[in-house]
Amino acid sequence: MKEVLQNKNLSVTPLRLNVLGIINSSLSALSAQEIGEKLNEYNRITLYRTLKSFISSGIIHEIALAGLDPKYALCIDECSSETHNHQHIHFSCTECDKVLCVEAERMPTIQIPNFSIESLDIQAKGICNNCSE
Ligand SMILES: [Zn+2]
Ligand SMILES: [Zn+2]
Ligand SMILES: [Zn+2]
Repeated sequence: MKEVLQNKNLSVTPLRLNVLGIINSSLSALSAQEIGEKLNEYNRITLYRTLKSFISSGIIHEIALAGLDPKYALCIDECSSETHNHQHIHFSCTECDKVLCVEAERMPTIQIPNFSIESLDIQAKGICNNCSE
């Protein structure tokens, strides 16, 4: 995890390492509060600042879905400090409110005349594996 920070020219601090470790080991996207609950002690402002620095470095992305707190997940695609380029879908479970980044077998290609699309934000709702049993 240390290398991830160093590759993005972020200084390595215990908080950054902890937060990155928590996001990395979670199967679903986490809200700032869920991340905070896993830290022993934390300052909300510093946590938000840490998350913002990860977002602007292309390490994590924010997933803002209607009715849910913003959640954060690692970028599984090549993202840089200039641009987030995601080729995946955000799945939210209507039972447990978990949000997951999932790869689609085929991503739709959409073209709009006179506009250039830089990224598509696709959301899917349904029942996750855990809740369908
Ligand atoms: Zn990204
Ligand atoms: Zn579920
Ligand atoms: Zn995602």
